[in-house]
Amino acid sequence: VDDFVAGGMENASITILTSATLHDEKAHIDFRSEPLVSHELAHQWFGDLVTCKDWSHLWLNEGFATLMEAIWRRHELGKDEFVYDLIGMMDSYLAEYGRYARPIVTRVYKYPDEMFDSHSYPKAALVLWSLASIIGEENFRKGVKRYLEAKREQNAETEEFRRFMEEASGLKLDWFFEQYVYNAGHPSLKVSYKWDDKQKILELKITQTQGEDSLPKYRLPLELVILGQDYKEERKFLIDEKQHTLNLQLPSKPKAVCIDPEFKILKALSLDLPPEELLAIIGSCTYLYPRVIAARELSKKASPVHIDELAKILLAEEEFWGLRSEVAQTIGSIGGQKARDALLNALSHVKHPRVRRAIVRALANFKEKPVADTLSKILLDENESYYVRAEAAASLGKIGLKEYVDVLARALETKSHNHVIAATSLDSIALLLGDEALATVEKYLSPDTPMPLRRAAIASLGYMTPTQRVISLLEEASRSRHPHVKLAVVSACTRILSPKVMPILEKLQQDVSGRVARNARDALEQVRKHVEKGEEYRKLREEIDKLKEEERRLSERIERLEKK
Ligand SMILES: [Zn+2]
Repeated sequence: VDDFVAGGMENASITILTSATLHDEKAHIDFRSEPLVSHELAHQWFGDLVTCKDWSHLWLNEGFATLMEAIWRRHELGKDEFVYDLIGMMDSYLAEYGRYARPIVTRVYKYPDEMFDSHSYPKAALVLWSLASIIGEENFRKGVKRYLEAKREQNAETEEFRRFMEEASGLKLDWFFEQYVYNAGHPSLKVSYKWDDKQKILELKITQTQGEDSLPKYRLPLELVILGQDYKEERKFLIDEKQHTLNLQLPSKPKAVCIDPEFKILKALSLDLPPEELLAIIGSCTYLYPRVIAARELSKKASPVHIDELAKILLAEEEFWGLRSEVAQTIGSIGGQKARDALLNALSHVKHPRVRRAIVRALANFKEKPVADTLSKILLDENESYYVRAEAAASLGKIGLKEYVDVLARALETKSHNHVIAATSLDSIALLLGDEALATVEKYLSPDTPMPLRRAAIASLGYMTPTQRVISLLEEASRSRHPHVKLAVVSACTRILSPKVMPILEKLQQDVSGRVARNARDALEQVRKHVEKGEEYRKLREEIDKLKEEERRLSERIERLEKK
């Protein structure tokens, strides 16, 4: 279905999918439809055959459907793709957690649509995967099968699901559901270690550092792989205290310590280690998850001396693309000429489009002409993948050099999957030119413009001064019947943040689509806060002016007194 409101809808025996998922061979190197198909197919069981009793148990539908996307990846593309998908799920949950935290099962919501968030989808999928890891995948499958058979054509709730899992595994699982399903937040582990060469002991410190909105202590079975010169040790621990110190006797100094190597347990992980140890994990660990965590940690601590080693991984075609993409970001965050040259050099060697995309994204950190020239060439190069070219358009916008608007304007004519190149170019033009881009943007606002381009045009009005013209264009778009158009209006409003957009948002807050209503409500809140801040600033300004005036009068008085 064209311009469908979501990716898909799992109507029993006749799933609807958005036509946006159709793509040509060229897009196929960057884009797959199977995860969407797997998701909706999974709903035939989780959602249709067995339906969650009410919205508070929505995770029983969406958690499973989301996990099945990852399971398809593992089946078709391999373990690294699977684990990288899990890492991506954690990222999108954490992004939402930055705004709010709620228990997965909750009755506190204003609109049912609010439940369709990253707690019900990716976080729930990770919770299911953690559960499967703890009770064993075979038991998990057995329990799920029993659950589906017993609750067939009925409604189910979380407690029933728990009982099937307990029955299949023979384990009490109330603690697991309590900490992951009925409570908000998640465990955060900080890990550090040091090696005592005399005693041949590795002292490993694991601290639970989660904040107020999570439980003070979690119970976590944690796996550990230690890789040495000629040994590999696997250990399992139960983490249930705020802090653990483990002393591990080892044959020799380990090359790398890999925490939860297969990302079996939902948690945030930070490695309190010097850059050299982090590099050792990236270089010698054979599991993806610890390497990605180390690469991200290194972004905060690395310096130019680490670039050569990182560049080797970036260039290694045999390494997994996800790791190489992370490493590109790490190099980008180091900054400086050496980092820039390493990334530019990689562009002339690296083939994998996903890695190229990450390099192009990292290059946005370098706000200079030679970089922008390279990105312009990529944007206009028909041999590049659609998504690499779109990323080049985005980076040109972020770099902020106005003279590249012409190149971006040429890219507006480019045909690509879901108009991704044209839409991103339009966004960057508006970002670079602000008000001057209005005439260009207006060409793409009409209802006969393809939806992705029209959405980009509407959202890019947010980069402009909220003149009467801009506000009336947004008002007009907000009267569209299409939720996607209205959502684009909301994102423009959150960029503008002026009281002038409040009437538009107030109206959209009453929208029939819960998603539009919710987004409008959040945006309105943001505008109000912004206006209040402006108000506070104004008051502060007045106070200062008053104080200055008093000071002036005082000094005049003193002067007069002194003269007497
Ligand atoms: Zn779904």
